[in-house]
Amino acid sequence: MGSPCSSSTTASETAPRFLLVTLGCAKNEVDSDRMRALLLAAGLEETGDAAEADVALINTCSFLAAATEESVEATLTLAEERAEGVRACPIVMCGCVPSRYGDALAAELPEVAAFVRAEEEDGIVGVVRDVLGISGSAPEPPAEPGALRTVEGASAFVKISEGCDRFCTFCAIPYIRGRYHSRGADEVCAEVAALMEGGVREVVLIGQDTGVWGSDLGDGQSLATLLGRVAEVVRPYRGWVRVLYLQPEGMTDELVAAIRDTPEVLPYIDIPIQHCSARVLRAMGRSGSADELRALFARLRAEIPGMVLRTTGMAGFPGETDEEAQELLDFIAEEGFDYCSVFAYSPEEGTAAARMADQVPDDVKLERTQRLVDLTEQLGFAATAAHVGERVRVIVDGVEEGDEGPELIGHAWFQAPDSDGAVHIASGEAAVGDVVTVDLVDSFCYELVGELVGEEA
Ligand code: SF4
Repeated sequence: MGSPCSSSTTASETAPRFLLVTLGCAKNEVDSDRMRALLLAAGLEETGDAAEADVALINTCSFLAAATEESVEATLTLAEERAEGVRACPIVMCGCVPSRYGDALAAELPEVAAFVRAEEEDGIVGVVRDVLGISGSAPEPPAEPGALRTVEGASAFVKISEGCDRFCTFCAIPYIRGRYHSRGADEVCAEVAALMEGGVREVVLIGQDTGVWGSDLGDGQSLATLLGRVAEVVRPYRGWVRVLYLQPEGMTDELVAAIRDTPEVLPYIDIPIQHCSARVLRAMGRSGSADELRALFARLRAEIPGMVLRTTGMAGFPGETDEEAQELLDFIAEEGFDYCSVFAYSPEEGTAAARMADQVPDDVKLERTQRLVDLTEQLGFAATAAHVGERVRVIVDGVEEGDEGPELIGHAWFQAPDSDGAVHIASGEAAVGDVVTVDLVDSFCYELVGELVGEEA
């Protein structure tokens, strides 16, 4: 049976088609990928065209109030398109917005046929079959974790944990995604092996707080031991391993040594500091001070020569004074981060910081944010330009139409996919997933121009 509200399609003619819209971060991309794989394994087909869909899924983000608004707006836009179109396919809202707002949503969004919290997404096939009115038992999901990925490019994000135990006072993630739990090493390695077998050449390990991976497993495993195992899996493919979202406290000697001594693990260190003022950090529910962070980065530079450093800074946290805002600017300039994401503080419903009395006025927040953005661009553009003249390995991600015809787009070890810039190679032939040797000859903003030297030996 097709959708009860579709105009003509029935399952006897063709499989039901789903549209999957993903908002938010890389972690959501991974969740969407898993739902996609489950739905495809259950016999549904994917479409990118809302007009063709029998059911529309929207995987939402609720990290910030603005992301929640965007998620709701995207859902209402789908509903409007649905109302105007020939088909009236049901909408299923998944992910962080249902996780955060739960049962209250049904009354607020009558346009939505079903809500699926992040932790319920493995049951997506049953939900979709219900809203489509498909009876009978659903097919068993694939047993292999690697079979639950549908990555087509050369890099893939791999989740190693879910949730977070830190409860930073500005952040809603622990309330949305729950307490920290590590994904088992065997499952992670099986997924990485399947991805490599499918042509992926770089795995990017992600979680809310990757540095504490293993701490809840109670058997002495740590991120350092996991990196060793993942490196073994990617080694025969000459693959790369990148880790994102390390918290400062997680940079143990064991982990630093694992990054330094494991050739497959890229010397790309992503440590979101948020701030450097000890007072602001304490108010954020975090620890440390400018001096402690300074000492950490000095240790990392000494231990991992030539590393690339990414961070995140937040402007306008409640109570942040002009002096403290300047302290953060000075610290970022002094450390010379290669990449820095900047956020303006946003009061998130249900968090301790949103209830703090001394909220910073929006205009001040924006002005401080802009100063941070200007500085981080200046640093980032200079760090990018400093790579000109290097000969590097580049993973080819795709082909794009450039000013002078088609060009290969790839990224080097110091560029995290979807976050940092890319390498543009004007001429030469290579396939997605190839690792090529490139001379970097020019740069613009965060982008680099390269000349193909040849395919990697
Ligand atoms: S560590 Fe990150 S995800 Fe966890 S509460 Fe703090 S900001 Fe949120």
